[in-house]
Amino acid sequence: MASSIRTLNPATGKIEKEFQPYTTDQINAAIQSADDLYKTWRFESFENRKKIVKAAAAEMRAQKEYLAKLITTEMGKPLRESRIEIDYSANILDYYADHAEEFLKPETLTTEKGDALVFSEPIGALLGVMPWNFPFSQIARFAAPNIMAGNTILLKTASYIPQCGEAFEAIFTKVGAPKGLYTNLLISGKETSKLVKDDRIKGVSLTGSESAGSSIAKIAGEQIKKSVLELGGTDPMIILNDADLEKVMLGTINGRLRNAGQACTSSKRIIVQEEIYDAYLTKLKAYVENMKVGNPLEDDTDMGPVSSASALETLLDQVNKSIENGAELITGGKQIESDGSFMEPTILANLKPGMKAYDEEVFGPVVCLIKVKTVDEALTIANDTMYGLGASIYTENINLAHEMARKIDSGMVYINKQVSSSPELPFGGTKRSGYGRELSKAGILEFLNRKLILTS
Ligand code: NAP
Repeated sequence: MASSIRTLNPATGKIEKEFQPYTTDQINAAIQSADDLYKTWRFESFENRKKIVKAAAAEMRAQKEYLAKLITTEMGKPLRESRIEIDYSANILDYYADHAEEFLKPETLTTEKGDALVFSEPIGALLGVMPWNFPFSQIARFAAPNIMAGNTILLKTASYIPQCGEAFEAIFTKVGAPKGLYTNLLISGKETSKLVKDDRIKGVSLTGSESAGSSIAKIAGEQIKKSVLELGGTDPMIILNDADLEKVMLGTINGRLRNAGQACTSSKRIIVQEEIYDAYLTKLKAYVENMKVGNPLEDDTDMGPVSSASALETLLDQVNKSIENGAELITGGKQIESDGSFMEPTILANLKPGMKAYDEEVFGPVVCLIKVKTVDEALTIANDTMYGLGASIYTENINLAHEMARKIDSGMVYINKQVSSSPELPFGGTKRSGYGRELSKAGILEFLNRKLILTS
């Protein structure tokens, strides 16, 4: 039987490499190594941890071209976006190597009961379960803070990107990381659930869909283990009448169409005030109809394929059912005939509750427009979702934007810029987009024992 863990190039439809899932013995040995190493790694100096993580960042940059090609081959994003992802992932490693000691320094408290010290101690071997859409940066933001904090890492990445998963591990091996510090696991989702039950694993972080998150968090809860969930979203982008159209266009291109729309924080519902609507739509349509969709290895390609044939099928269903329910197709909406999984960049207008493209996460190159009259109406629609990851607001009235930002139920609000991530900014959501934070100081505080020692 064909393995589900494989490189199936979404631009060509060809299976390039297949992998056998790890056996129970291999998985057991990997967990044991991570648990064994933890016993010493927890006491390793920041200086020594830093040397390894910095060396991994340098090695990642040195291998940039090779790694970027792996990303593009396995999940289809344009090569120039893959190169940016490698640089960004190396920056995350450097950021935690440089700042972990300062973030984790003991706090002192003077109280009536005595002098207290609060230490930030690691908790053990951790499991990361990561998606395919940002193969390297998603791993970096989980692995870097936790390795620097003294935890050890087992990593199960999406079955679509096995070579990226192996390459991340190989970087740590090459720079001399001790056995058990970072271990890649080629396993199915089912095996992953079993791992969460293993006593040697002390916490789990999952980035992915709501169903995967809820299934992992349920098991972690039963085991009284900490979990962090970074899930999906139907994030709003609000464009007010006085917005600067250039910033809006940049926000739409980078915030909705980059990575073929396959980003958790992508602006999946664009809410536009009526006076600016026509001017925006004219510019948007001209841009979308001129996008170069094709071979993601070519430097001038704007958009590659979506991740898989089944993802394409889901997208076409969401678009077609929304049109059946009254949405207006402005442009695109169809599969592009080829051996790969290419979709025309698409604009849908007049989205309303009850339509799939309004209610569900549309994980692809579909710009969904909703016209509104007032700011209040925009806010009501922005909050009309089960998710709450990252919203954006475009207006030249910054006071109003701040007032609106406080009324939106999401983990992040960006003003006059698309939602994105940076090593120094906290990243995460609320409601069904998950809980916990990655990146910044917040990201290193998730899997720690905040130990109090009080002397009376
Ligand atoms: P996915 O199907 O949920 O997969 C994510 C990871 O979970 C993969 O490694 C997958 O392994 C594993 N998995 C799936 N079902 C599982 C289960 N029942 N138990 C244990 N592990 C399981 O999601 P995806 O399609 O790769 O990624 C897209 C989703 O991720 C979108 O919803 C997107 O919004 C979200 N996302 C969120 C963030 C964020 O930071 N909030 C960032 C990026 C993506 P297999 O591949 O082997 O199934």
